[in-house]
Amino acid sequence: MILDGKLVAKKIEAGIRERAKEFYDNFGMKASLHTILVGNDEASKIYARSKLNSLKNLGMDGEIHHMDENSKEEDVINKLKELSSKKDVHGIMVEMPLPKHLKKEKILLNIDPEKDVDGQNPSNLGLLMLGIEDHAPSTPRAVIRILEEYNVPIASKKVCIINRTPVVGKPLAMLFLNRDATVTICHSKTLNIEKITLESDIIVVAVGRPNFLKEEMVKAESIVLDVGINSVNGKIVGDADFNSLVNKVAMITPVPGGVGSVTTSLIIEQTLKNAFRQMGKIY
Ligand code: NAP
Repeated sequence: MILDGKLVAKKIEAGIRERAKEFYDNFGMKASLHTILVGNDEASKIYARSKLNSLKNLGMDGEIHHMDENSKEEDVINKLKELSSKKDVHGIMVEMPLPKHLKKEKILLNIDPEKDVDGQNPSNLGLLMLGIEDHAPSTPRAVIRILEEYNVPIASKKVCIINRTPVVGKPLAMLFLNRDATVTICHSKTLNIEKITLESDIIVVAVGRPNFLKEEMVKAESIVLDVGINSVNGKIVGDADFNSLVNKVAMITPVPGGVGSVTTSLIIEQTLKNAFRQMGKIY
């Protein structure tokens, strides 16, 4: 069975459209997401613009604040402070990667935690450790949302996550733990990964290498969520060897049309959630 991320995203967007209108009707302004983009990374520019278009199509608003490649740390921090203090700014995110001379952690601390839409402020990652998921990062949430939309049981399942970054692997491990799964995190120094994947019920792969997860590494009942986004000969592919795995495993997400499709809609949904909360209401 293919876990269709586009279908899940459409369902999320239908909910957003309805509630975005409700927000506007009640408060006389559109919920808005402000993105800071520093430098000239082409993929970030495309992603920020497509997010802005989606926001507008759903009845929300937003702005991309494009800052010069040579911006100083304090310039970016001041911009974040300014946006954080504005009442008509409900969501804030900083596009990655930042230019090398900027310290990511220092900058992200200046996103108002209540306006954070992608779990970027380290304090929101800290809350996640305590089981508070209000501002968890979007990619890990997309993985969980797909499983939940397809009613896949998570409690007591053996989960293997191949990625240990603060953006994907670590927060995702917390989301799985909060749902009573038993989690193993793998990375580039893990020995005999296939021994772990073969024993796992759910496998999340986010390595950044095409065809990393192969048929012989998984059991037939397993569920594979492919977070990878790789460009091969002008085509986007994931980290799983989809064509062979799709005939073996119980469920798998495609790339494109899987986890990535849900990630953007969750960022937009989080903006709206933040907006309602800032007005003392629940989304
Ligand atoms: P990253 O920072 O390079 O992290 C890759 C992770 O994979 C690291 O934890 C690394 O281990 C591990 N790894 C690398 N080689 C490995 C190997 N041979 N065996 C086992 N583990 C290995 O990349 P990222 O930013 O997390 O992104 C990973 C992939 O997900 C990329 O394709 C990216 O485009 C995609 N992505 C998708 C979304 C989405 O929304 N769909 C969001 C973010 C990223 P070490 O820690 O030991 O280096």
